[in-house]
Amino acid sequence: MRPFIYAANWKLNKSPRETKAFFQDFMAAAGGANAKKSVVFFVPALSFQAACEATEAAAAALGMSTAPKVSARSAPALGIQNAYFETQGAFTGENSMSVAKEMGAAWVLVGHSERRTIFNETDANLAKKVEAGFAQGLKVMLCIGETLNEREAGQTMKVVETQSLAALTPTVRAKLAQAPHEFALAYEPVWAIGTGKVATPEQASEVHQFLRALLTKELGAQTAEEISILYGGSVKAENAKALGQMPGIDGFLVGGASLDPKAFQAIISA
Ligand code: PEP
Repeated sequence: MRPFIYAANWKLNKSPRETKAFFQDFMAAAGGANAKKSVVFFVPALSFQAACEATEAAAAALGMSTAPKVSARSAPALGIQNAYFETQGAFTGENSMSVAKEMGAAWVLVGHSERRTIFNETDANLAKKVEAGFAQGLKVMLCIGETLNEREAGQTMKVVETQSLAALTPTVRAKLAQAPHEFALAYEPVWAIGTGKVATPEQASEVHQFLRALLTKELGAQTAEEISILYGGSVKAENAKALGQMPGIDGFLVGGASLDPKAFQAIISA
């Protein structure tokens, strides 16, 4: 049974001090109703240590477990928003997945549209990052999605298919056959990210069902059924319930609304 995942993408927001303040508020509220839900925070690399310390301190105060983060009352998992596919060497300015793992990361986010457009990351480059994440023992969340021009040109399914297939290298396929829960897709229409223009539940569900069929064709039904497919793009408490009830939607990747502990809790509780 695939989990329903609530993932926060903080992008380049929150200093270590702000990170600690956030988790104090968020975890105090999470001690109750949301404790059993699968929650992951993709925090900026320079605030990662602060996030570890804050979630551990809050979890201890609340009697929750942090490691392994699988019990009924476990603290949120943490992830990094990007890292290089090489683990060390002459790569000035890059971050290492193996170091992230050592510091306590459970997940790596790969291929966010801002990485693809602002930092020119290609499908081939991202495929290497998916492989590297698995090689370092991280779970991988791969973002895919079409631009407005691509949607208007009727190319949505072709775009998400191409982006997904590029990541399904033989190494990745072998990994997924063994551990499908360590991978998630996040369908994020680029025109809905940070714009307030959310996809309708029907628009999102149509793509999610297409992706499930694609995974089934490529990986077999047993593996495909275990892979969560999240929706991202202007998710808020007001639209989370309708989206979350649609067939094929297995969670949310949330940007703006995840920066506020109450707003993110409201999405998790919706
Ligand atoms: C995102 O950054 O992945 C995202 C979906 O942002 P927002 O929720 O702000 O649209």
